[in-house]
Amino acid sequence: MKTGLWCVRKLSLIFLTLSILIPLSFTKAQVSAPGGDPKQPIDEAYTAKIKKYTTEPYFTSPLVDYLPASKTVPTPEAALGDIAGAPGILPYAEQVYKYMRLLESATPRVKVYSIGTTEEGREMIAVAISSEENMKRLEENRALLEKLADPRTIKLDDAEADKIAAEAAPVYYITGTIHSPETGAPTALMELAYRLAVDESPYISDIRNHMITLITPVVEVDGRDRMVDLYKWHLAHPKEFYPPLIYWGKYVGHDNNRDAMGVTLDLTKNVLNTFVEWKSQVLHDLHESVPYLYDNTVGDGPYNAWVDPILTNEWEMIGWRNVADMTKFGMPGVFTHGEFDTWSPGYLMFIAAMHNGISRLYETFGNGGADTRERTLEPEEYARTWYKQNPPLPKVLWSQRDNNNYEETGLLTSLHYFSEDRVMFLKNFYLKSKRSIRKPYEEGPAAYVLPGDDPRPTLQADLLRVMQRQHVEISRATSPFTVTLPAKKKVKQEKTAAAKKPEEKAEAKAETVTCEFPAGSYIIRMDQPYSRIADALLDYQYWSPDDPQKTPYDDTGWTFGELFNVQVVRVNDVKVLDVAMERVTIVHAPGGAHASGTVFAINNNAEPALATLRYKLKDATFDAAEDAFEAGGRKFDRGTFLIKNVDRSTLETTTRDLGLQAYALATAPEVRTHPIRAARIAYVHTWLSTQTEGWWRIAFDKLGIPYDYMSTQEIARIPDLNAKYDVILFPPVGWNLPATTIVDGYPTSWGNPLPWMNTPLTPNLVGKNDSTPDMRPGLGWDGVEKLQEFVDRGGVLLTATDTSNFAISLGLANGVSVTSPRKMKIVGAVVETQLVDLASPIAYGYGDKLAAYCDQGPIFSLSSIVGARQRGRLGPEMNERPTGRGRKSDQDFVVGRPEVTPPEQPESEDWQNPTVTDEEKYNNPRVIPPDLRARVILRYADAKDLLVSGLMEGGDEIAEHPAVIDVPVGRGHLVLFSVNPVYRGETEGTYSFVLNTIMNFDSLNADRKPDER
Ligand SMILES: [Zn+2]
Repeated sequence: MKTGLWCVRKLSLIFLTLSILIPLSFTKAQVSAPGGDPKQPIDEAYTAKIKKYTTEPYFTSPLVDYLPASKTVPTPEAALGDIAGAPGILPYAEQVYKYMRLLESATPRVKVYSIGTTEEGREMIAVAISSEENMKRLEENRALLEKLADPRTIKLDDAEADKIAAEAAPVYYITGTIHSPETGAPTALMELAYRLAVDESPYISDIRNHMITLITPVVEVDGRDRMVDLYKWHLAHPKEFYPPLIYWGKYVGHDNNRDAMGVTLDLTKNVLNTFVEWKSQVLHDLHESVPYLYDNTVGDGPYNAWVDPILTNEWEMIGWRNVADMTKFGMPGVFTHGEFDTWSPGYLMFIAAMHNGISRLYETFGNGGADTRERTLEPEEYARTWYKQNPPLPKVLWSQRDNNNYEETGLLTSLHYFSEDRVMFLKNFYLKSKRSIRKPYEEGPAAYVLPGDDPRPTLQADLLRVMQRQHVEISRATSPFTVTLPAKKKVKQEKTAAAKKPEEKAEAKAETVTCEFPAGSYIIRMDQPYSRIADALLDYQYWSPDDPQKTPYDDTGWTFGELFNVQVVRVNDVKVLDVAMERVTIVHAPGGAHASGTVFAINNNAEPALATLRYKLKDATFDAAEDAFEAGGRKFDRGTFLIKNVDRSTLETTTRDLGLQAYALATAPEVRTHPIRAARIAYVHTWLSTQTEGWWRIAFDKLGIPYDYMSTQEIARIPDLNAKYDVILFPPVGWNLPATTIVDGYPTSWGNPLPWMNTPLTPNLVGKNDSTPDMRPGLGWDGVEKLQEFVDRGGVLLTATDTSNFAISLGLANGVSVTSPRKMKIVGAVVETQLVDLASPIAYGYGDKLAAYCDQGPIFSLSSIVGARQRGRLGPEMNERPTGRGRKSDQDFVVGRPEVTPPEQPESEDWQNPTVTDEEKYNNPRVIPPDLRARVILRYADAKDLLVSGLMEGGDEIAEHPAVIDVPVGRGHLVLFSVNPVYRGETEGTYSFVLNTIMNFDSLNADRKPDER
C-alpha cells in the first residue's frame, strides 16, 4: 500500500516536469493524488502530535495526517504552544491574527487584510493565500474577475469571457466561527493557511498555483473572545458548570447568521464587502453542530426561488463531489443533502448565492470547546440513509483535532476540485452575472419602482440603503414617467397607491393599466449584476402548506417593501429602462424647516425618525395633534408633531439630517393636543437568552433612543421603578418559555453560581452589555410584584410575543387570554393587519392596514369578564336554531300560544371585547368596567387576506384576533404585541407602534371610547 502510494507520487513528479511542455489539463489527474511530497521533509514532532490527538485512524486523511516542514515559515505551534486542534487550546482572535501575520512576514504567498471592525471595535481580517506569481498580480487578477463579475464591462462578450476564464485565478472565500460556541474553525484555518503556503505536494500546489484562497478565520470576533474566556473559566473550574454563552456579539447570537438580508450587523457588512470587492466565486461558511461533516451545500427543497439554476447545479456538483472525495479516504459520517432547505437568503453564505457566486456551508462536529469528549449520538444521527451511506458511529471519543481533520480535509478537497474545474466555474460565474443583467428581457421583472411621492420618505431611504449595502445600483427618474402594469394587481395597486389614478388602456382588454410615477421616483433596474438580491428581497414569497418540506429551517417570508411600510412596484414593462434617470450614490430623504413662525408642525406618517427627533431635541416642547387639521395651507394628519421652544437653526439641521419636513406656523393650530415626551426607558433582558431582544437593542441604538439596559434580576432590586422610569420595555426572550421560567431562571437548588463578569481570567466576557455574579436567578416573584406595582402606579409595560404570554399568564392583563393553536402554522411570515383604533396614540401615523412579521402568534382572545371561559371555536356553533317549523332563518313556534319575538343575540367580532349581557352583569364582580377593558389597536386581517408572504396554514385561528392591545391596569398600561414589531432589521414599518407607545406613555388614553357593550 505504502509503496504503491509512493509510486504514484514518484510518477506524479515525472508528470510535473512534463507539464511544463504539455497542456496542464492533460496531466491534472495524474499530478493531483492527495498526500505529501516525498521530496519535502515533514515536521516529525508536529505530525506525531496530529496522530496522538486524532482519536481513530479513520478520523483523518492523507491530506492532513502529516505536516510539511519549512525552514522559514512558522507552524501554528509558534502561536498556540501546541498544534492546531490540540486538547485544551482555544486561541483568542488576536492570537489567530498574530499567527496569520507571522505567515505574512515569513512568506510572499500570504497577505493579511483588515476588513473592518465589529460593534465592539475588534478587527476582522481576511487572509489571502496563493502562489508568489498570483500574489504579485492580485490587482491584475482582480481586474480580470471584475470583467466576469460585471459583464457590461465586456459588452456581454462570451468569447472575451472565455479568454478571461482560462486565464484568471478564482477566489475561494472561507469564513470561520460565526457561531461562537462552534469553536474549531480558527485552528483548522491556521493550519490550512500553513499547508496552502508551504506544502509542495502536487495536490496542494495545484490549488496554490491556480486559486486565491481567502480566509476570515473568525467572523464573530466579539463572541469568539467571550467564548475563549468561558473556556478558560471552564479549564480553571473543571468540576463546575460553566456559564452558557449568553452574549456572542454585542447584539445577537445565533441570528448573526440570519442577517444577510437586512445587513444590520458589522460582521455581515464586512464579509459582504470583502466577498464583492474580491469578486469571489465561493463563500464557504464553517459551522459545527452535526456529526461528522454535513456539507449542506446541496441542502433540501424548497430552493430559494430567485437563485440561478446554474447555481443549484453547482451546489449538486460540488456537494456530491465533496462526499465522493472524502468517502474515498474512508472517513465516516460525511454527507450532503440533509434537511436544510435553502429558501431563506438570510444566511451569511447566501451573500454568495445572491451575488452570482456559490454558497456553501459545513456543519462539522464540534465539542463546544477543546476538550476531548466521549460523544453519543441519537439513532437518527447514526442511521444509514440514501444520502448517508457511511454514517457516523453511535459512540466515539471525539477530539478537536478530529474536527480540524474533517474541516481541513473537506476544504482541501473542495479547493482542489474547484481548481481542477476552475475554468468552468469562472465561466459559470460570468454566465450567472450575465443572466442577472439580462433579467429584464429573459425572465423579468424589468425594475422595481419606489414612487417619489411615498408618504414615508425616511423609511423609503432606509430600504434603499439596505439595497446599497447589498451593492445594488439605484437610479432616480429625472422626470415623470408612465409604465404598463398588469391590471389584475389592482387590489395591490390601491393598497400601495403606487400610481396616480391608474387608467385602463382603452385598446388593451383591461389586462393592463398605465401608471404614472413622479420625477424623483427611485428605479432599481434589473439589468445589473446584483439584480437577484434586489428581486429576492422586494418580491413576495409563497411557501405551499403542501410542500413536502414540513420543517422550514427559518423564516418563510420577508417582502421588504411590505415590512418597511414603503411602496414598491414590480414592473415587467421593459420600457421603464428607457426612462430618463441618473445613478444615485447617496440616498437621503429631503428634510429641513420651511416658512416662518415659532410653532413647527411635522406630519406623522409613522416614521421612526420622529422618535429620534424627539430624543435629540430633549428640551423643546413637543405636542401631538389629536385630530387632523389644516394650517398654513397644508393638511396635517392626526398625530402630527407640534414643536415649540426650539431654536430654529437647531431644528433646521436636525430635521435635515433626519429627512423630516418641519413647517413653521404663525400660531399654534386650533386642535386638541397632548404632550409628546422623551420617556425614560428601562429595557429588560433575561439571563436565559438575549438573542431576540438584541434586534430591538440594535434598532434603538441606531435610532439614538436612550434606555437603561438591565436584567430581570436588576429590575427586582430597584426600590421605586416609577421614580426612575416611565416605560419598561420587555422585548421577546425568543425561546417561547413558560412564564415560570422567566420568573425562576435557572435552577438554584443545586449546582454552582454561573458568573457573567469580567475577571482577569475572563477579561472579555461583559463587553458592552450587562454583568451578574450569578446568571441563574430569574425575575423572581418580587420582580413580578414590582412590575405590577409599576403599571398600577401609572407606568407603561410593553411586551411582545413570548413576554406578552408571560404578562398574560401571570394575570397582569385583565380580560386577555392566549389560545393555543391547533393546526395553525405561521413560520416567520409576513401577515396583513388592520388598524382598529386609529385614534389611539399608538396608531399615530398609520393607515388602515399594513404588513407585519408574525411567527406563530400568540393568539390573543378578549373577554369582558375576568376569569371567564374563553370563546372557543371547538364544538358546535352557538345560537344555531333547533329543529322545528319553518326554514332555517325562520323562528320556531309553540302550539297554542301566541308568537314571542326573542331579543337580539349580542354579536361581537374576534378582535372585540365580547358584549356583556344583562344576565351576565347581574351581581357579577368579575365584569371589567368599560373604561378598564382592553383597547385593541391592531388586529390580524380576515383569513382570506391574512397571508402576505411565506407559509401559512390554519391562519383562520389567528385571523381577526388582536395583534396589538393596550390594556389599562390601575393608572398605567400594559401594551401587548402578538406580532414582533422589531425584528432582524427587516421590520421598520412596525417600529412606530413601539415608539408611539413610548412617546405617548402618559396620554395613551387619548380619544379612548369606553367599551360600553
Ligand atoms: Zn452554526
